[in-house]
Amino acid sequence: MAKQRVLSGIQPTGNLHLGNYLGAIRNWVEGQSQYENFFCVVDLHAITAPHNPATLAADTYAIAAIYLACGIDLQHAHIFVQSHVPAHSELTWLLNCITPLNWLEDMIQFKEKAVRQGENVNVGLLDYPVLMAADILLYQADKVPVGEDQKQHLELTRDIAARFNHQFCKDKSPTFKLPEPLIRAAGARVMSLTDGTRKMSKSDPSDLSRINVLDAPEQIQSKIKRCKTDPVRGLEFDNPERPECNNLLTLYMLMSGKTKAEVTTECQDMGWGQFKPLLTETTISALQPIQDKYNDIMADKGYLESVLRQGQEAAAAIANQTLNQAKSALGYALPL
Ligand code: ATP
Ligand code: MG
Repeated sequence: MAKQRVLSGIQPTGNLHLGNYLGAIRNWVEGQSQYENFFCVVDLHAITAPHNPATLAADTYAIAAIYLACGIDLQHAHIFVQSHVPAHSELTWLLNCITPLNWLEDMIQFKEKAVRQGENVNVGLLDYPVLMAADILLYQADKVPVGEDQKQHLELTRDIAARFNHQFCKDKSPTFKLPEPLIRAAGARVMSLTDGTRKMSKSDPSDLSRINVLDAPEQIQSKIKRCKTDPVRGLEFDNPERPECNNLLTLYMLMSGKTKAEVTTECQDMGWGQFKPLLTETTISALQPIQDKYNDIMADKGYLESVLRQGQEAAAAIANQTLNQAKSALGYALPL
């Protein structure tokens, strides 16, 4: 039986942080041999907020190199750049024309990010989830491994696909497969270091709010030293009144590979003065091999380019086929 297909991506905006690693990439790596995988660097999404043209290309390569450094295996996965496959933009337009405006206005991420853009919000920010739907539907993906914050966009993707199939595929087989989210409980929502009630984000203006996968040991040490805690002695999971405590213990659990029960016992009598150096050491040593591998990959740009070229070819072959099916369903005269 053919393997199920997985599609996921990360924006090349700013630094890839522990939320992206624990919520997304780590799960891609763990599940990769079971699936046929497509992992993209979603550079079209990256311009939905103000971006820096001088760094976009370099950031795009860096994210692809981090995928490889974290253990994405090219035997199981294709890595490509979203803008290298124009079908993503074209299908977005087609889907725009069948997506009700109020579905997009209801999206939590839009509401949150719109506040930061002020009064004159980009159309692109509103349209972000339709582009994401196009990304996924083009590959007829079965599973989409993401963090908790993307769950609502996945539901919207299913709604858009179902609406399209219902409106345009009445007497024929459906154009789009409805994808399922793949969200692992642990690490699905890593919180900010400066506010345990907000998710860790690339777009948070403060770099102190996150630990980046490529941070130097001194940066990690200083961020953990300065991160928000509480005055209570003894550390515990799952106390809603102590969101920072739950977040930092979860980070320690995931970065050390220990179980929740082991961490509960180890840390229950600790104060922050004892715990913070432990979390610092554990994080630095868990990230070291990824950083070493990243530096090796970045030293060989030709290799990275060949990976992305091969990824683009494999992705475009599938994406163009789906795009043509969508256009046929809509009644377009296809190019001869
Ligand atoms: P931005 O703030 O610009 O939206 P981001 O930090 O949310 O950036 P994305 O590129 O939007 O990063 O998301 C990439 C992947 O990382 C998605 O699967 C998303 O669900 C996941 N992710 C993002 N933040 C977290 C987090 N704090 N915890 C767990 N997963 C996360
Ligand atoms: Mg995001």
